[in-house]
Amino acid sequence: MGAPEVQVIGAGLAGCEAAWAAARMGARVVLHEMRPAEGTEAHRTGDPAELVCSNSLKSLEPLSAPWLLKRELLRLGSVTLPAAFAARVPAGVNLSVDRAAFSAGVARALASEARIEMRRGRVDAVPGSGVWVVATGPLTAPALAADLQRRLGADHLYFYDAIAPIVAAESLDLGACFAANRWGRGGDDYLNCPLDKAGYEAFVAALLEAERHEPHAFEKGRFFEGCLPIEELARRGPDTLRYGPMKPVGLVDPATGRRPYACVQLRRENAAGSLYNLVGFQTHLRWGEQARLLRMIPALRAAEFARYGSLHRNTYVNAPAHLEAGTRLRGDGRVFLAGQITGVEGYVESAGSGILAGLGAARAALGLDPGPAVPPRETMLGSLVHYLTASDPRHFQPVNAMWGLVPPLEGAESAPESKYARFLRYRERAVGAFEAWLPGLGIEPGDASGLDAQAEAAAAEARAGKAAP
Ligand SMILES: Cc1cc2nc3c(=O)[nH]c(=O)nc-3n(C[C@H](O)[C@H](O)[C@H](O)COP(=O)(O)OP(=O)(O)OC[C@H]3O[C@@H](n4cnc5c(N)ncnc54)[C@H](O)[C@@H]3O)c2cc1C
Repeated sequence: MGAPEVQVIGAGLAGCEAAWAAARMGARVVLHEMRPAEGTEAHRTGDPAELVCSNSLKSLEPLSAPWLLKRELLRLGSVTLPAAFAARVPAGVNLSVDRAAFSAGVARALASEARIEMRRGRVDAVPGSGVWVVATGPLTAPALAADLQRRLGADHLYFYDAIAPIVAAESLDLGACFAANRWGRGGDDYLNCPLDKAGYEAFVAALLEAERHEPHAFEKGRFFEGCLPIEELARRGPDTLRYGPMKPVGLVDPATGRRPYACVQLRRENAAGSLYNLVGFQTHLRWGEQARLLRMIPALRAAEFARYGSLHRNTYVNAPAHLEAGTRLRGDGRVFLAGQITGVEGYVESAGSGILAGLGAARAALGLDPGPAVPPRETMLGSLVHYLTASDPRHFQPVNAMWGLVPPLEGAESAPESKYARFLRYRERAVGAFEAWLPGLGIEPGDASGLDAQAEAAAAEARAGKAAP
């Protein structure tokens, strides 16, 4: 009998990683990809791991959540990150790549692995036997999306057109907003950011002038009426926003004792309360413009954005309702989901999710418990998986790697500390937990010494007082 087999659908960021990880665990892998015979609205080539938009794999700043995520991928033996470093182009502290060289590097690595067979062709349904990883991304071909929808129920495969920005709680001006629910109903769950008449009018005028992201052809004219971007609402009339996501009815500003002229509501994004979502503020403006405009709202004048708003077709499952740890389907342990379709957002997040699904699928094919393929909660990958599987399914939205996802530090409330000190403690805790977990996985760890050296150099510089990170 040959090695156990894993089938992976989609040779994007997640699928390539899933195939690579499963092969490293000793499984034979068939990697199915429909391109180039059939494309998507955003892919342009038949290359594996094509970057559909920006060429940035985000920050390498050693105290950032994306740095930690990259370190975890490297230690897990990622196939995409070494290709990214080899294809790096100058972009400051960002890891940005020449996209063609990047994909070519991934293709070479996959071709060098005898256990992986790349099979060109679309898959329209997940067959009823065998171990499968579905890694077909935000632009999953319609027939397969319909198959998943049949399995999961009509409400549980989201076609999401616009997403609202998320801000860090600690960057809000709490003196310029107030906690209250509309009409005083049940608690003070929302933070309300009031604007006076002049502030509102200036905001709407700036919105109408703002520079917009040039949409892909498929994005044009596809707005859902229930989910309109704020710039589209502003175009419909000067008061449209005041009757929509900026409506002040049912709210009284304690600072004035009156109803505000307009009001933006912020809703908690996570249980820790470290992140807030701008309710109904989906937008398609360029990121720089979003920051400039939203900082015109007094409570947001120093806002830091954990995620900007965006607009595109995004097929993802309601993960907390349908996935268990290891991102496999509840009730069908031989089907794993990986990448953006699980509700992670971003190239590196998708790649990381692919590694975990590939390891879990290989373990399942080998007759092992896939559970140990999930890193501890303190790590960035562990926090992402926790977010996917333990969030409230009623408010589930895709998410990037960010510090707001990791569990709070012990003693953090009683001893306030700088952001630098906090992020350092998050990182040290995460690296320790990851390194303690890794040996039990049964694969040869990958090399992250370059990132570790970079972090050590930055810390030494900070200790010497040369730089304030
Ligand atoms: C328009 C747009 C812009 C984006 N911009 C950014 C950005 O700037 N930065 C960022 O970090 N993220 C961006 N994203 C998100 C990005 O798609 C993900 O970060 C990442 O590509 C997801 O990886 P994935 O492997 O899950 O999906 P993908 O990389 O999309 O890979 C999925 C693969 O599955 C294949 N496939 C689909 N259906 C089938 C089928 N039925 N049979 C066989 N093969 C199939 C596809 O051809 C594709 O190769 C963007 C997404 C979109 C749609």
